[in-house]
Amino acid sequence: MRLDTPVQYVKGIGPKRAEVLAKADVHTVEDLLTYYPRRYLDRSNLKKIVDLHPGEEATVVGKVYSAEIMRGRAKRFMLLVGDGSGFIHCVWFGGIQYIAKAFKTGDTVAFSGKVTFYRGPQLVHPEYDKLSEEGEANPLHTGGIIPLYPSSETLSQAGLESRGFRRILRPLLDSLAALPETLPDHLQTGLDLAPLRDALENVHFPKDWPSLNRARHRLKFEELFYIQLALGLERAARRRENKGIVFQNGGDRSRRLLDMLPFALTAAQKRVLREIHDDMRSERPMNRLLQGDVGSGKTVVALVSMLTAVENGYQAALMAPTEILAEQHYLTVHTLLEDLGVRIVLLKGGQKSAERRIVLEGIASGEAGIAVGTHALVEEGVAFGRLGFVVIDEQHRFGVLQRAELRQKGYYPDVLVMTATPIPRTLALTLYGDLDVSVLDEMPEGRKPVRTVWRTEEKREAIYEFIREEVGKGRQVYVVYPLVEESEKVDLAAATEGYERLSREVFSECRVALLHGRMKSVEKESVMRDFKANRVSILVSTTVIEVGVDVPNATAMLVEHAERFGLTQLHQLRGRVGRGKDLSTCILLAQPPLSEDARKRLDTMVSTNDGFKIAEADLEIRGPGELFGTRQHGDIGLKIANLLTDGRILESARKEAFTLIDSDPELKKAEHRMLRETVVRRTHHKLGLMQVG
Ligand code: ADP
Ligand code: MG
Repeated sequence: MRLDTPVQYVKGIGPKRAEVLAKADVHTVEDLLTYYPRRYLDRSNLKKIVDLHPGEEATVVGKVYSAEIMRGRAKRFMLLVGDGSGFIHCVWFGGIQYIAKAFKTGDTVAFSGKVTFYRGPQLVHPEYDKLSEEGEANPLHTGGIIPLYPSSETLSQAGLESRGFRRILRPLLDSLAALPETLPDHLQTGLDLAPLRDALENVHFPKDWPSLNRARHRLKFEELFYIQLALGLERAARRRENKGIVFQNGGDRSRRLLDMLPFALTAAQKRVLREIHDDMRSERPMNRLLQGDVGSGKTVVALVSMLTAVENGYQAALMAPTEILAEQHYLTVHTLLEDLGVRIVLLKGGQKSAERRIVLEGIASGEAGIAVGTHALVEEGVAFGRLGFVVIDEQHRFGVLQRAELRQKGYYPDVLVMTATPIPRTLALTLYGDLDVSVLDEMPEGRKPVRTVWRTEEKREAIYEFIREEVGKGRQVYVVYPLVEESEKVDLAAATEGYERLSREVFSECRVALLHGRMKSVEKESVMRDFKANRVSILVSTTVIEVGVDVPNATAMLVEHAERFGLTQLHQLRGRVGRGKDLSTCILLAQPPLSEDARKRLDTMVSTNDGFKIAEADLEIRGPGELFGTRQHGDIGLKIANLLTDGRILESARKEAFTLIDSDPELKKAEHRMLRETVVRRTHHKLGLMQVG
């Protein structure tokens, strides 16, 4: 049995189970061995039924005494469960047909959930894990710590609940008595890590807590080590490449652009531009991540770099995550660069075919100096005449694969990836560990933190009064309505209605304008021009203003339905105020009841202006996969390590991996054969960026 043996050759797994497992992304013996328990039960973290309190989350283990479907007012399935100390009811109102088949009297089962009281303690729709059937010994009494595996309805229908996994894994592990080690000796012994075979044994069948912790530590290290090894290989491969373009420094037009700006660059912007220019002059293709909080001035840096590429006779592409944002960028770029004689085109969906053809021709002939658009710019057979520079804004929705994609098309442009929100270091190292990093760690002078408050409906009148005062002082105000892609029309209606009401009734004495993504570009441009010139005092909008809108005289923002926005998005929105010398205010309007996550988001916004703290909080609330949209592009795929809590292990894994790559950049040495095979096996289908061998 080898690690890459398909699961259907494992004892206890037939074609049916193999199919179900494949859906859970378990294809090989190795996938099975690394299908880790999601948590563990032992006597010490169990509650006796007699000790349960209402409202608490608890796990109890007991025997099923009766199971029946009750047909009262509400049809329900009820189990009576006893553990010697007392009895509890477990109740299901849905999925009854399926759930009723899952239990028999006499089964020993672990139930987890929130305790309520209704004629005694009960658990409604608890999670459950069958530990043993009638007549079998309860493994908790014989074995100690019981692993509970992630399951799903399809998995458990195929008998693959915790008990099923344990039954497959026990003989499998026994048959793998001499499993080859997957970490090099100097690391395994040098860092005192548990050997692989021991670690797998104890993660699935823990002897005791210390052995389990040691096992988990080793497996986390290994997981992170191989990701870092893959990233290190990719970076080394890129460094060997010499097909990149050698740009010269920017010329006359770059200087004119800088002269036109109403401000001097910050020291951080100058430093970052130097870093970018150094990369551009080198024949190694640039792959650089530009980090900087909202308002730190990334756009200017991108513009100057793109202009430099254009001055060298190449084209630049600017990619945004959504069409709306692409349009915003187009407006910004257009305003600043049109006077310098650069042709700028916008490629987007829904363009008339004649218009689209003109755009595509401009891109193909090389005549369009800068093309702005979404990911479609590189995806859908768009041919560039002389693509030399790519800026990717808000990288996290794109993932790490752009470079490989471009390379496959025969382009070797310099790539600048910009992040609107700083990424926590652990995540940056994991997701973008192959990129060089530049940081704008300095805000333009004179910025003041935005005062942020969270208010409910009762305060609406007072909020309007406050807005009226701001306008009275000659300042400007944003009123933002949420725009969620799925329900664009509904939200648009909310913004439009809001606009009608505000302009006619509430602020009839002020100039109010509406801005949303469905408006024609010319209309949008004219609204934005009016707002910039303070001919409009109150701008009612959807999230189109999230990026790119820049009016320093705007000092207040009211966000309607703030609970519907993500944290990063709120932070971005708030970045539209606080751009001038005056103190600004951001009012988040959200009406309870709120979900716990929504409450956390609002609290975070009120308590800090620091993009790094916000990013960390977002990571904590949402988890890395969702936060960075990586699921679409191959999950980061962490099975055991946790980026929030395992930072130390990550740093050490990275150090060791990069040291190894330094000594053998292609892992060609004979003694690195196992490493090379393992990294290819583990990462090629996940990151898609391995070009090893
Ligand atoms: P980011 O994209 O990083 O959020 P922007 O590039 O939109 O930030 O810049 C934010 C605002 O700061 C814009 O109004 C921009 O014109 C302004 N700005 C950029 N650099 C400077 C600077 N060096 N001094 C003053 N204002 C600046
Ligand atoms: Mg920006």
